[in-house]
Amino acid sequence: MQRLIIITVLWVGFILQAVAAETLSSDVLAKGTQWETTFYRRDSGVDGPVVLVTGGIHGNEPAGARAAEHIRHWPIKKGRLIVVPRANIPGLKAGTRYLPGESENLHDLNRNFPMTDEKLVARGVLAASLWEFVESSRPDWLIDLHEGIDFHQINSKSVGSSIIDVKGEAAESVVPRMLEVVNAEIADPRKKLVRLRYPVNGSLARAAHERLQAVSMILETTSKDQPVSTRTRQHRLMVHTLLGQLGMIDGSAHLLVPAGTSELRIAVYDAGGVGKRGPRNLDRVFAKTKSILRRVGVADIRDGVLGQFDMVVFPGGSGSKQAAALGKEGKATVKEFVEAGGGYVGICAGAFLAASNYSWSLGISNHKTFCETIEVPGIGRKSMWFRGGSAPVTMELTDEGRTILGDFEGVFEVRYQNGPIMSPMGRDGLGSFRSLAHFRSEVSKYKPQEGTMINTPAVIVGEFGNGRVLCISPHPESTDALNRLVQNAVRWAARR
Ligand SMILES: [Zn+2]
Repeated sequence: MQRLIIITVLWVGFILQAVAAETLSSDVLAKGTQWETTFYRRDSGVDGPVVLVTGGIHGNEPAGARAAEHIRHWPIKKGRLIVVPRANIPGLKAGTRYLPGESENLHDLNRNFPMTDEKLVARGVLAASLWEFVESSRPDWLIDLHEGIDFHQINSKSVGSSIIDVKGEAAESVVPRMLEVVNAEIADPRKKLVRLRYPVNGSLARAAHERLQAVSMILETTSKDQPVSTRTRQHRLMVHTLLGQLGMIDGSAHLLVPAGTSELRIAVYDAGGVGKRGPRNLDRVFAKTKSILRRVGVADIRDGVLGQFDMVVFPGGSGSKQAAALGKEGKATVKEFVEAGGGYVGICAGAFLAASNYSWSLGISNHKTFCETIEVPGIGRKSMWFRGGSAPVTMELTDEGRTILGDFEGVFEVRYQNGPIMSPMGRDGLGSFRSLAHFRSEVSKYKPQEGTMINTPAVIVGEFGNGRVLCISPHPESTDALNRLVQNAVRWAARR
């Protein structure tokens, strides 16, 4: 008898699973206004909690919006997951905390929701629309993703790196675990997240708790000295822990792209050894293309996220510092990704990183760089890679360059900042590179550098295993007119 019951339960379980297909829906809030923003709803078809996640309420806190954009693609098995990833789009575009153009008493969206003990409803078009949506969604949990400017433990004036939640048993059952999971990856004890209470008056989290009895929390990362990939990862880890505790999710916290997408998937490394400008420029280059671009860091790479992408870009900064940040394991993972057919585009520092002449470099491109240390008369011993600050140079594509990178005729200008001067390394077992472009002018700081840059390769391509490797010495991603060149470089590496 008992056995029969077990079999019946198994069958019912199976049927429920088979029947319960997830349904996805989305629509626009504040329709017809300058504040239009999209929400995404995943309904598992199985009874369970309703979790509502918001990002981008403050436009100068981009990690929340980016993390929410990842989270909205997570399949769930119970309840409903509703995400408004980019609540304040004009603010995100302008990089401002506020609602652009609104008066001072109305410009902070997270002070416009129904206040404690006031009859007043939400104030302003966007807050009113969001509030109406949140009310009608009846969330059991409301998670609002934000960022502070400093670590709360180091600077108590900032709420950065904290969970600001509400009192009650439900929060008590998850917040300590969320902190434990996110803090396990933070080495510096002063940068670990702490628990704070209570969400500020007028905030969405406070209103949802007081008016709708939702268990609310504001998850704050810190923008100071931390790449976007780290901050989005922290948001993801916390939300994933919550969804896991609620029994809503099985999958990874590091699913960054929607499963089964046919769009070009680009990973941009933005962590140790990367300057601020490169990743931002790449965002701009790909903003209006049909592609999914995600920032990734060392922990993401070690977790195997590159497998979700067609290719990876290593932007400008310092090649040796990128190598040091990746570490032995990270470097091996990048090489394996390329060898298995993933694409690699290295820009400036990323082209140093791909080279074969350093103990620390990846050795996935058969080139060496001009980097000897030479005694310069009257100056002293100087390393030849350094040619001074950012400067314009000219370059010209080869025939193959025009086939791959686009029809850029003749000699044209490009920004250059200490990119590698590349020549054949001649390493056995690694195919030689082909030049897609040459420098037609040069910059130099020391006498021995003169004449060593002009007519050398500016862009080269080769193969490593099944993957394509494309190295760019200058910075075409800095120049709008060369957006197409960079897009084509990435597509070629991705075989798209
Ligand atoms: Zn904020």
